[in-house]
Amino acid sequence: MHIQIPDAAARAIGILEQQGYEGYLVGGCVRDAVRGVEPHDWDITTSALPRETMAVFSGFRIIETGLKHGTVTVLMEGEPLEITTFRQDGDYADHRHPDGVTFVRDLRADLIRRDFTMNAMAYCPRTGLVDPFGGREDIEKGILRAVGDPDCRFDEDALRILRALRFASRFGYRIEEDTRAAMSRKAHLLVHVSSERILSELRQMLVGAHVLEVLLSCPDILAVPLPEIEGTVGFAQHNRHHIHDVWGHTAHAVAAAPADPILRLTMLLHDLGKPLCYSEDGKGEGHFYGHAARSAELADRILRRLKCDTFTREEVCRLVAHHDDTLHADARTARRLLSRHGYDRACRLLEVRRADLAAHAPAFHGELDALDALRRLLDDLLAQEGRLTLKALAVKGTDLMELGYAGPAVGKALGALLDAVVDGHCENEKAALLAYVKNL
Ligand code: ATP
Ligand code: MG
Repeated sequence: MHIQIPDAAARAIGILEQQGYEGYLVGGCVRDAVRGVEPHDWDITTSALPRETMAVFSGFRIIETGLKHGTVTVLMEGEPLEITTFRQDGDYADHRHPDGVTFVRDLRADLIRRDFTMNAMAYCPRTGLVDPFGGREDIEKGILRAVGDPDCRFDEDALRILRALRFASRFGYRIEEDTRAAMSRKAHLLVHVSSERILSELRQMLVGAHVLEVLLSCPDILAVPLPEIEGTVGFAQHNRHHIHDVWGHTAHAVAAAPADPILRLTMLLHDLGKPLCYSEDGKGEGHFYGHAARSAELADRILRRLKCDTFTREEVCRLVAHHDDTLHADARTARRLLSRHGYDRACRLLEVRRADLAAHAPAFHGELDALDALRRLLDDLLAQEGRLTLKALAVKGTDLMELGYAGPAVGKALGALLDAVVDGHCENEKAALLAYVKNL
């Protein structure tokens, strides 16, 4: 198998080989190339020890930041190339990090420590593909499979369980049965993974094209870091708007939202409060009064626990809190949305509503047209407001003060000038406005 590799990487491998070492592309870039996708970065692995790598590339600019883990970054033709010594991991006492790493001279020892067969391949032009665990075949069949014994591998590093979900969501691969079963058996070890890493994997998983299948098939795993979802799984809604239980609806709503982390996090969390707010009316129909506010509280708790950045947390919580607001396709609603939320969040709120509706029973999809109309109203309003605000006026308060205006008279005169511009009585141009204000 031939892989087209960038000149810088080919050159680095050539230089290593000239000096008697081995050098290979490895990991995600080989996987992506085999899948026929352009890799985003090209990592190199080598038999040279870190000090030897530095000596080999002494004629180039070198960044030493990863040296402890055996990584030397070499700037070649303007591109940073990460060159890491073949490693073997020690024991994993904390279910997350190896107690120590040993540098080795054998490529296979480096590949066997990697998480999935598709990520455990190496390539160099001299040898072609090095694929000891059948990664290429698994890619061709669309299978995600742990390298070696899956229980041991997830025991070593529980983060791999979330990486599996992330890759499954991104590529649409089926998780091989033994690997999948081990993921459930070892999911409790996710308590050893830092909040930051959990959130990072979760975000990447959520924006995957195949997130629906992952959410529907793995709630037991997600419920370890997110126990709040447990109550939604299998919770029947007894409501004609719905064809799914709360978790099924949630999964469909996530998948229906644009692949943006804020919107998808919002949909993941938007109905968490439902089981806590359930009531039935006399006709046996289920209701969830107050669930939006309740879900927003839970979302806030979860995102704080996962050490989410403040902007994302606040934005998600606001969107969750307002996801059930009544929206009419009229100018009044548009004006209110704009003044309460600003344009960006108003648009996000419409996306949230669209995703939520798309996950309802098809009979209730009619409102989607109304959302389109409301979006047009918002855009029109924004275009008008652009002309209407005081900010856009060519005269400022200070200009009027120079003319002798003071106190509330300044604001009043500015308002009058704005009206004059809007009504077409005066150009929005400084000299014209100053002349106009003298005649008021
Ligand atoms: P991406 O395209 O998202 O960067 P990637 O496979 O390159 O995917 P990285 O996190 O960049 O993911 O890791 C690079 C390689 O290191 C992986 O392909 C895999 O071989 C190995 N690897 C990364 N994390 C782990 C882990 N937790 N356990 C075992 N191997 C891992
Ligand atoms: Mg990578």
